[in-house]
Amino acid sequence: MIVNSIVVGQFQTNCYVIGFKENSNGIIIDPGDESEKILKLIGENNFNIRYILHTHGHIDHIGATAKTKEITGAKTFLHKDDLSLYENLRVQGEAFGMILDKPPLIDEFFEDRDKINFNGIIIEIIHTPGHSPGSVCFKIGNILFSGDTLFNMGIGRTDLWGGSYTKIIKSINEKLFTINDNTIVYPGHGQKTTIGYEKINNPFINF
Ligand SMILES: [Zn+2]
Ligand SMILES: [Zn+2]
Repeated sequence: MIVNSIVVGQFQTNCYVIGFKENSNGIIIDPGDESEKILKLIGENNFNIRYILHTHGHIDHIGATAKTKEITGAKTFLHKDDLSLYENLRVQGEAFGMILDKPPLIDEFFEDRDKINFNGIIIEIIHTPGHSPGSVCFKIGNILFSGDTLFNMGIGRTDLWGGSYTKIIKSINEKLFTINDNTIVYPGHGQKTTIGYEKINNPFINF
């Protein structure tokens, strides 16, 4: 399994493209913007993208979903508590003077602790509300994709629609900081980190 990471759009979102050498099957996590850049990476690696997984429904994580789904034909996934955010992509865009198309339909909704079997690996869904009601993290072995819930030395903002400071702290303490310390964290923005490092150094959380 190879994890490719690219930074897309004005919000500098990390979009991750996971691929498998053996058979080229792949997954996109958070196609936030710049579909050309994402599709170029996919083309160069000859990935056959099966799933588009969203950590949450904010514009900077779903802005290129329409185009990437159209080209790859991949199935889209989201937690249902972020469906209204997702469906209001156009309204989210207007706030930034961006004109966006309606996002495509979501094919499947996550539930907390769902396990998705993909190409011989298990993707565990961890519902971590707080940054948004339907924020989730994806755990694959000792790797965690944390979206905008946990950052390197930071946490997601909670002043946007449906955000809750109490909930994000609870999510991180109870659902993320209980994972192995050596778990590598790939966040929605910024540099990667580990659970153990954040437990000790993250200034926003007292574990
Ligand atoms: Zn966000
Ligand atoms: Zn974001």
